[in-house]
Amino acid sequence: MINGDLMKKTSVFCVVLLFCIFLVSCSTPPNFEKQYFAMGTVITQNIYGTDPQKAADEVFSKIQQLESVLTINKAGSQIDTLNSNAGNGKWIPLDKEIIYILETAQKYAALSNGAFDPTVGPLVKAWGIFTDHPRIPPQTEIKRLLKLVNYKDLLLDVPNLSARLTKKGQIVDLGGIAKGYAGDVAKDIYIKDGIKSAFINLGGNVVALGSKPDGSPWKVGIQNPRQPDGKYLGIVPIRNQTVVTSGDYERYFERNGVRYHHIIDPKTGAPSKSGLISTSIITDVSINADALSTATFVLGLEKAMALVESLPGVEAIFITSDKKIYTTKGLQGVFTFTDTSGEFTYVEKR
Ligand code: FAD
Ligand code: MG
Repeated sequence: MINGDLMKKTSVFCVVLLFCIFLVSCSTPPNFEKQYFAMGTVITQNIYGTDPQKAADEVFSKIQQLESVLTINKAGSQIDTLNSNAGNGKWIPLDKEIIYILETAQKYAALSNGAFDPTVGPLVKAWGIFTDHPRIPPQTEIKRLLKLVNYKDLLLDVPNLSARLTKKGQIVDLGGIAKGYAGDVAKDIYIKDGIKSAFINLGGNVVALGSKPDGSPWKVGIQNPRQPDGKYLGIVPIRNQTVVTSGDYERYFERNGVRYHHIIDPKTGAPSKSGLISTSIITDVSINADALSTATFVLGLEKAMALVESLPGVEAIFITSDKKIYTTKGLQGVFTFTDTSGEFTYVEKR
């Protein structure tokens, strides 16, 4: 699963299947590796250091606590309370970290001109992608629901830690950003517990603390969006950074040969047809990477490149539906294209 020369470089390697991106080649096996399930995905923690079990358990219980307050799938969660009071004028008290997530969501909604929009919930619900009843809503229904999608209708009162939605029926869905926040919280817990080298993956949201114990960078493989899990197109080395990928191959259904995936274009109300099939963001803070991976997916290559190039300390890998791979300038000479199928082309210079 990893190519020959990479095999030679490492005595022992572990290819940890990380949904859409992989940790390839860790030269010394982690003294702690465990998988959990939360937020609708497999969460893998690889930790090197003393008492890794304590740190891992602490991370997992924090992620469970976050899920309990952030989920839209459980009546009475804080986000569910915000949503069920939409349009009645009541300010809903929220935990400080939820206000931080909502503020960050608003920031990237504004930066991406609404391509990322946390109020996309009514459309996510109508399409039901990755549920038992996915469907293609009639245009009349989409048109009606589009009136409920506008991040400017999500009002935040930060000093008083409260928020409200201005229109009845509006739904905040944090599926596109909350896993990123969970990854950042995990890293903070590792640091608090004196861990120096760790790697957590929450279904395509990868956060690395430090470098590998031997000082070399973590090598993250980028999934081939049209091949089964385990086949990757390239590798990006990271130290103390995060790699977050959004793709049309994670959650989708097909009808009459058309793929309907879970990243909704808030302008059309339908799965985005931006010409991108996978976006990976590399930066320091995972909540930012998570929002940007979804935002850039909807923006399409040109606008996505322009947005990421305008943000200091952020790099990106974009894969288009005509099977070309583009990277931002900072990844040139850093990203290694490894695909030998001939199916994809790496366009190094645009
Ligand atoms: P990303 O590209 O990061 O985000 C896509 C997700 O963001 C979509 O699934 C949708 O939720 C939302 N979204 C779609 N379009 C946009 C847009 N334009 N702007 C902003 N957001 C958009 N999954 C389950 O199957 N069952 C569960 O019980 C469940 N519970 C969860 C609880 C929490 C707290 C969280 C954070 C996630 C949960 N999930 C659950 C997963 C969630 O439904 C999303 O599918 C998942 O977070 C997608 O992450 P991603 O990185 O693959 O996709
Ligand atoms: Mg994401």
